[in-house]
Amino acid sequence: MAQIIDGKKIAKEIREEVAEAILKFKDNNPALTVILVGDDPASHVYVRNKARACEKAGVISHTIQLDEDIEQCVLLEKIEELNNDTSIHGILVQLPLPDHIDETTVLEAILPEKDVDGFHPINVGKVVTGDTSGFIPATPAGIIQLLHRSGHSSQGKHVVVVGRSNIVGKPIGMLLLQKNQLGNATVTYCHSRTHNLADFTRQADILIAAIGRPEMITGDMVKDGVIIIDVGTNRVIDENTVKGYRLAGDVDYVSVFPKAKAITPVPGGVGPMTIAMLLKNTLKAFKLLTA
Ligand code: NDP
Repeated sequence: MAQIIDGKKIAKEIREEVAEAILKFKDNNPALTVILVGDDPASHVYVRNKARACEKAGVISHTIQLDEDIEQCVLLEKIEELNNDTSIHGILVQLPLPDHIDETTVLEAILPEKDVDGFHPINVGKVVTGDTSGFIPATPAGIIQLLHRSGHSSQGKHVVVVGRSNIVGKPIGMLLLQKNQLGNATVTYCHSRTHNLADFTRQADILIAAIGRPEMITGDMVKDGVIIIDVGTNRVIDENTVKGYRLAGDVDYVSVFPKAKAITPVPGGVGPMTIAMLLKNTLKAFKLLTA
């Protein structure tokens, strides 16, 4: 029977470790500022959850709410102000941004030392070169911890990543490729232009699905003994639920479960790790900036 990798439990462990580390600094606490542009309801929920988790861990959090139609230069000025504010250690701009704002310009404006989301090109470059002084984006960093803390080594394993986004697919493959204890995998990337996807997924010792297509990876697409990390968080209409929808992963849990050695559930797998790793990154920024 497959081991269910409990993201809630592992995330709690990490949040507690962060809280314990922060206690040692006594009156001096890490501070994170989240900039939220516009009224996207999902973004509001994420930001609220981040603020709550910060409070519990001892991270001071501020949210700056800006109007949907704010000019890009005003947003950039705000970021500059925060870059120069020594009482702020982490800056995060909640994505997505409205269409008239150029995401790349905004992310590049954040001081790399305060870029706790790890999206600045300098931090992206550090992930690629294996320089551990930067920030790893929270979701891939969380996946590394899920594998490590549930006892699954990637050493010499064939990892197949389905998805090549900058926030999940590309960085998780890069991290697992690194020549270190948490890496040393052979990595294959697949995406929407991959021919015969199942030929690749069936070779995976560890399969990471970051696709955004509900239940796309089915039991016939994996081999016996596979370890599954399901990043997908998709809303699927379900009239049997109070909300009218349920959350589904990118993996068809029912057909994959009997073949898997271990699997992350949705919800309760990768999802809870993201905020935990954001807190860890904020603590790291605080240590770097106050050392
Ligand atoms: P993107 O839409 O940015 O990327 C999806 C990737 O999947 C792309 O590389 C795309 O290929 C590939 N893809 C799409 N369709 C297929 C297909 N039919 N066959 C093979 N590959 C395909 O998504 P994200 O990486 O941002 O997110 C992926 C999923 O993870 C989503 O469900 C998202 O909600 C979830 N997520 C969860 C997080 C969490 O739990 N904390 C955090 C971030 C994301 P191509 O590049 O060719 O278009």
